Amino acid sequence: MARVNPEFATEISKSGAGDFKACFNCGTCTATCSLSTTENSFPREMIRYSTLGLEDEIKASLKPWLCYYCGECSTQCPRQANPGELMMSLRRWLTSKYDWTGLSGLMYKSLTLSLAAFILALVGVIAFAGSVGFELEKMVHFGHYFEMIAIGTVGFVILLPNIIRMWWFTIHKPKTKVPFVNYLKATGDLFVHMFTQKRALGCDDNQFRWFEHFILVLAYLSLLFTTVFLDWFAATNLFIIVLGYIESVIIAVVTVDFVSSRMKKDKAVSKNSQPSDWFFVIWLLLMGLTAFMVRLFIDLNLLETNKWLYLVHLTVLVQWALIIVPFGKWTHFLYRSFAMYLAKLKA
Ligand code: SF4
Ligand code: SF4
Repeated sequence: MARVNPEFATEISKSGAGDFKACFNCGTCTATCSLSTTENSFPREMIRYSTLGLEDEIKASLKPWLCYYCGECSTQCPRQANPGELMMSLRRWLTSKYDWTGLSGLMYKSLTLSLAAFILALVGVIAFAGSVGFELEKMVHFGHYFEMIAIGTVGFVILLPNIIRMWWFTIHKPKTKVPFVNYLKATGDLFVHMFTQKRALGCDDNQFRWFEHFILVLAYLSLLFTTVFLDWFAATNLFIIVLGYIESVIIAVVTVDFVSSRMKKDKAVSKNSQPSDWFFVIWLLLMGLTAFMVRLFIDLNLLETNKWLYLVHLTVLVQWALIIVPFGKWTHFLYRSFAMYLAKLKA
């Protein structure tokens, strides 16, 4: 028998959902949504589940990840129930359920806790810099090792188990039988969605936003590769140096547009920003900007007399790698890609 959580509506409201209980089940939103199909029909079904508090059904569903928040359903809803925002809130809620540490959920609910985590990271960076006598060479050297260790640790200790939990809730628990060979066959789709997020193109009037996301993902992943594996800050090869500059500039330019869009609230996706949305765009902007400045100061021989700049960059990096990537909005990128993969397996 389906388990009902009478507190679910209150809980999901804390994740930013609007007045979804105003829904009178007319179905206009589902008819409007260009991504909804007969096999995967939404958002009305998700609104019904949320109103009834059918938590297990929502946990077993991949549908919240199939929405790309164009906002069309919210515009057309005759009851201003804001189904698009509900889908966004369900993604936040699901993120907290997949996370085995429980920290995602706590940070989504408490701004104080998020700020405390950011301050703790800052204190950690200053303590580390003090332990090496604020020597620039040592700070840059250990900063580079930190990146490699953080990627491995966060990936294997937090993100991988969370992906397994996502699979458990959506495939294993609902007893979906999937032949092993299908897991292998669908991996191509996983990477295509991860790098291109091409499903977003199905949203009407979403082409420019898709393009921005696409080049941002490419620039972010290639800057990660350039700094971690090509050691950008120590590189002497002109191609690598220029490549890093281009990647960091692209990240900064695109994220400036994201931040300004959230400030202007000119798109459905940016109308109801939660702290986690702000942290994501602002820290991504700071990452691109500070990485660019550090490399520029290296090339102008100014970094030795401006060590504070590297410390700012390192602080942003540590906060990004240990807070936003494992427990913040960054995980949406990962879960959405895996949702496409798991949806393909279900199909
Ligand atoms: S359009 Fe609005 S009222 Fe109609 S089903 Fe969707 S959310 Fe409910
Ligand atoms: S926001 Fe757009 S993609 Fe998401 S459910 Fe509504 S119409 Fe569909």
